[in-house]
Amino acid sequence: MSAKIIDGKAVSAEVRERVAAEVTEFIAGGGHQPVLATVLVGDDPASHVYVANKHKACEAAGIGSVHHELPAETSQADLVALVKALGDDDGIDGILVQLPPPDHIDADAVIAAINPAKDVDGLTATNAGLLAGGRPGLVPCTPAGVIELLDHAGTEIEGAEAVIVGRSNLVGRPLISLLLGRNATVTAAHSRTRDLEGVCRRADILVAAVGVPGLLGAEHVKPGATVIDVGINRTDDGLKGDVDFEAAVEVAGAITPVPGGVGPMTIAMLMANTLIAAKARAR
Ligand code: NAP
Repeated sequence: MSAKIIDGKAVSAEVRERVAAEVTEFIAGGGHQPVLATVLVGDDPASHVYVANKHKACEAAGIGSVHHELPAETSQADLVALVKALGDDDGIDGILVQLPPPDHIDADAVIAAINPAKDVDGLTATNAGLLAGGRPGLVPCTPAGVIELLDHAGTEIEGAEAVIVGRSNLVGRPLISLLLGRNATVTAAHSRTRDLEGVCRRADILVAAVGVPGLLGAEHVKPGATVIDVGINRTDDGLKGDVDFEAAVEVAGAITPVPGGVGPMTIAMLMANTLIAAKARAR
């Protein structure tokens, strides 16, 4: 039997509508309009599209936005100075530096300059530490979107065996903490994992965040499992996930497609984080 397809576009739209309603309510209650600042260095066309989409989403959610576009040759010191100034600017609630920066800039140094209270990507050591410690903070958008999709699919997280393939700071590691926080039994698999197939087949919840198109096939999926594919890989056949969708869909209970699964959630959770940051600053 074919799995239920989890529609990330629809869930993303729901989250964005919910955020828009909460923004209206916050302002009606005497709060300020939340404002997101984006920073983009260089002329990577894909990054320009991502940033433009973030501004459109802000507008639709009633969130203000400002954009700083810097030439590719901008020095790390100048970028860090701008990020610090935005951190001190009372008119800004969220700071998003579009990654990756040009090669001569150390992304970690830039992230370290972000005011943790405005770190809507959840990438600073402060927010990563809060999340790892099970304490409230700003959570990275993509893993937060994965949880939203699981909830929407009606997948029970508590007590479930969850296997995450990939342990990046952006996706895998924060997801370990989020799933643990929801009382899943969590396994993090990676490039050195022995018997990846056997480990994955234990999973009631299988998350792929690897960056290798079609790495996980039907043989990795326990019948009836929920499969969340974070992978976005450009191939000659178009965008592909880390899961062989056509094969896995026959075994899984529910599965996200690529595109149209996790991808649209990231921007929705960015809107949610900007509102969370604005409310926290207002307190
Ligand atoms: P990353 O930093 O490159 O990390 C990849 C992880 O996969 C590493 O932990 C690596 O293990 C593991 N890995 C690599 N090859 C493997 C193999 N053959 N078997 C098992 N594990 C393997 O990647 P990322 O930033 O997390 O991104 C992962 C994917 O998600 C990419 O396709 C990316 O485009 C996509 N993504 C999508 C969104 C979105 O939907 N908005 C956001 C972020 C990322 P080691 O740690 O041992 O090296």
